[in-house]
Amino acid sequence: MTNQDQIYCIYLDGTQYKMSGARPYQCAAFHAAEVFYADEKNNTLKYQFNNNGYIFTLKKHELASTYKMMKEDNTVQYLAQGDVAANKLLESMNATSSVLKETIPCPICGKVITYYARYPKMVCGDCGSKTVTATGEIIEFYNPYFLGSGFGSIVNGKKGEEHICYIYGKKCCAGEARFGGIVIQCCE
Ligand SMILES: [Zn+2]
Repeated sequence: MTNQDQIYCIYLDGTQYKMSGARPYQCAAFHAAEVFYADEKNNTLKYQFNNNGYIFTLKKHELASTYKMMKEDNTVQYLAQGDVAANKLLESMNATSSVLKETIPCPICGKVITYYARYPKMVCGDCGSKTVTATGEIIEFYNPYFLGSGFGSIVNGKKGEEHICYIYGKKCCAGEARFGGIVIQCCE
């Protein structure tokens, strides 16, 4: 079930961002910010929301209907409307967060790379640029759709939807990353 009206709060808990239903003052801040940013002249400005004397600073975030909210003590939360936007924001925060310091070796060459729970066998960028087909032809992957979405492969200028590739003889699988782009994982 989806809930497109509910406001969610995304907050840092230890090293992981988590999501919960927003509290009344957060909902009020969100709705006031929506009104403020409805005027496109304000898009580059920060919006200050006064909650009984406590000032929260809201700034429009990259995704639609999402805001970065700073409290006076500089702690940061994110507000999002609708569970689709909130989940997307949560995932992207956890994927890009600098607080996540876990690393693993690239399964092909051993170079240390950031570990993403969603892509446990992801290969490094260097290895990801050396993909070939089972017969040794260079195969590349791309996102055919708007905002880096969708999946496509190219071999010898021919477009297709081939996911399987090989890197230094190891079988790998390419796919569309959840937030756009391509991710290549080793399947051995
Ligand atoms: Zn590698």
